[in-house]
Amino acid sequence: MGKKRLEGKILNPNVDGSVELIDNGFVEFDETTGKILDVGRKMQKNVEGSFISSENILIPGFVDLHSHIPQLPGAAKNADELLPWLKNHIFPLEIKFSDLSYAEKTARFFFNEAIKFGTTTVVAYSSIHKEATDVVFEVAKEIGIRAFIGKVMMDRDMKRYPEELPLMSRNIKDSLDLAKKWHNSNNGLLQYIFTPRFAASCTMRLLEKTASVAKEGEFFIQTHLAENQSEIHFIKSLFERERHRVPTNTHIFKKSNLLGEKTLLAHCLYLSTTELQLIKESGSKIVHCPTSNIFLQSGFMPFRRYQYHEIQIGLGTDVAGGYSLSMFNTLRDTIETSKIVNLINDNKPYPCLRPEEVFWTATLGNATILNLGSKIGSLHPGKDADIVVIKPEPSFSFYNSSNSIVNILENLIYLPHTYKISSVYIAGKKKF
Ligand SMILES: [Zn+2]
Repeated sequence: MGKKRLEGKILNPNVDGSVELIDNGFVEFDETTGKILDVGRKMQKNVEGSFISSENILIPGFVDLHSHIPQLPGAAKNADELLPWLKNHIFPLEIKFSDLSYAEKTARFFFNEAIKFGTTTVVAYSSIHKEATDVVFEVAKEIGIRAFIGKVMMDRDMKRYPEELPLMSRNIKDSLDLAKKWHNSNNGLLQYIFTPRFAASCTMRLLEKTASVAKEGEFFIQTHLAENQSEIHFIKSLFERERHRVPTNTHIFKKSNLLGEKTLLAHCLYLSTTELQLIKESGSKIVHCPTSNIFLQSGFMPFRRYQYHEIQIGLGTDVAGGYSLSMFNTLRDTIETSKIVNLINDNKPYPCLRPEEVFWTATLGNATILNLGSKIGSLHPGKDADIVVIKPEPSFSFYNSSNSIVNILENLIYLPHTYKISSVYIAGKKKF
């Protein structure tokens, strides 16, 4: 163990939202502490007088802000809409986590695949099972991935879930036990995140109690909001029947005090201006999952509109509503969705998203949402060495003629067959 040096073109996100290209760059880090020591431009020249260039591309590891570990074996299958998909396809997969050796195998496959795709931090749902979630943490520790993991909290079944659900108090106790054991463990790589699935599977009491214990312990909370029209109507009528008179589903989270600066709201496709204001005031973050939104026919999230409301937006794969653990795939669908939002909006008031913007969002942007902006998300001295090394395929070199940031990112985002991710480091340790 000692000093390690990687060389190549560096794509480096900056705090101001820009991405810098360091041609002929190097990153030096300490394999023992896992910290980046130096980042810069190589000065030596070759005989022709031009800079010697390593063809590698170095980027900070991706942060995937939303995914479901037990769902990975169901990827790319059965594209029903959300509610029938959950009932017919996903819930039967998730209950298999009562088998701990199956949970162990699935978690191992999930984390290793995520790392192969260049993801060094995942924010993930486990299943409703406390023991399986414990096993998932064990595997994450052994592999050494950076992760926020939570036991799924559900205390009502909507006649959809094929297994008996734990009571509200059991959901809270199991989550607290896991948080106590795992939060901030493995040198701070592992964090616990409170995980009430969505309002359809949680009583108001569970939402309220979750908000109170999570906020007391200063934990992050993850849940789903306004993913699909049928789901929105279903949840609204469910809470109305229980005499919780709320104008919108966001008000259910407002009323239960679940909104807050450490709350991650996945999807958020259909939000009124009032709901956007509630989210903004609370400091909650939106997690855009465009691949899943298309696969499950949920719709198209208007990213720019939410940005104009000054809401922080991150990106997630949402495996297995999204079929790929690749954040490059998510970046492509983020840009393409912004084009579709324009196509279906006659006034076209929103400029499409650009490659540098979405790349920044999936690295330093997502890291900032997790309050890890000073630790990961870019390659700067003092930060943890979460680094992805990408090798362009030589036979496609004619694709890589231009050396602009946009051109390099366009190749990475749209032409995955023209390069290979060749190694991945997390906190200075080689994981792939
Ligand atoms: Zn999800």
